[in-house]
Amino acid sequence: MYPAPFNYHRASTLDEAIGMLSDIGDGARILAGGQSLLVLLKMRFDEPSDLVDIGRIAGLDQIDDGDSEIHIGALATHRHIAASALAKAIPILGDCANGIADNQVRTRGTIGGSVACGDPNCDWPVLLHTLDAQIDCQGPDGSRSLDINGFVEDYFQTILKPGEIVKGIRFNKPGAGSGGAYCGFKRCAPAYPTVSVGVHFSLNDQQVTSARIAVGSAGPVAHRAQEAEAELEGKTLSAGNIEKSAEAAAAALEPIEDQRGSVDFKRRVIVAMTRKAIGIAQRRANGETIKNGPEYY
Ligand SMILES: Cc1cc2nc3c(=O)[nH]c(=O)nc-3n(C[C@H](O)[C@H](O)[C@H](O)COP(=O)(O)OP(=O)(O)OC[C@H]3O[C@@H](n4cnc5c(N)ncnc54)[C@H](O)[C@@H]3O)c2cc1C
Repeated sequence: MYPAPFNYHRASTLDEAIGMLSDIGDGARILAGGQSLLVLLKMRFDEPSDLVDIGRIAGLDQIDDGDSEIHIGALATHRHIAASALAKAIPILGDCANGIADNQVRTRGTIGGSVACGDPNCDWPVLLHTLDAQIDCQGPDGSRSLDINGFVEDYFQTILKPGEIVKGIRFNKPGAGSGGAYCGFKRCAPAYPTVSVGVHFSLNDQQVTSARIAVGSAGPVAHRAQEAEAELEGKTLSAGNIEKSAEAAAAALEPIEDQRGSVDFKRRVIVAMTRKAIGIAQRRANGETIKNGPEYY
């Protein structure tokens, strides 16, 4: 199906885009890579009067690897991130970027769009919970930074205000002795995950000093599984507490039954993916180089 007719505007600066969005009002939608929005428009789930294309705003795709902080511009594509030096230095980023759909989608789709569309199946919001990321935004009332935790409040619904644009994503550089892994479980490359789990923690003499565990595709929003983190924090990793943590992650969630599997199946997958992600994160924290990607079934 073709989308309903719309007016198209291309912005060359962030201020221009914000001005266009304010002038047009309710009928306007931001267009970045189009990999989520165009699907919705073609299915006529949304019929905006105008699209404001931010895709060519210079500098908004930049990746900055600072001394203590990382900044990824909203227009950085999944492919750009996957190929970046950053993804080698922080392999959990590569796990996520490389596992998103296929090469076509990765070439167009952006990290900003993935966060802003509020889709509970998108990978980036899950991963960004494990890094305590901040979402930098700019709108008619100025700039603000929002915690990823709570940024998406319900299915396809974020706390962005009208006319507000995600400029970039920020997080602290993971320290020495830390490691993470992002494990998706999906039917095939161009399908969204049936379940995904991100784990990131720091080890001090094999004791977990701080842990983050987040689960995606198992509820209306990406969920930080604090009960699962508590099973690891302050403890030396063992088969026993890894198992308890994986079980706690599954127990904390209410996945829904759909064409990708039953509730029970998804809970079992959460356990398996959490266990796997903790194992890889531990080995990475200990300095091993581990190749990791989604599992297909
Ligand atoms: C076949 C297929 C398979 C896919 N599989 C996966 C997958 O496995 N995992 C996954 O994570 N994703 C998947 N995706 C989605 C893909 O990652 C999208 O790129 C991403 O979700 C949205 O990014 P975009 O730049 O394309 O945003 P767009 O589609 O342009 O926009 C999406 C929404 O976000 C808003 N928006 C976009 N950018 C901004 C911004 N900077 N500030 C504020 N609002 C903004 C738009 O108005 C729109 O509402 C898939 C897509 C397709 C078509």
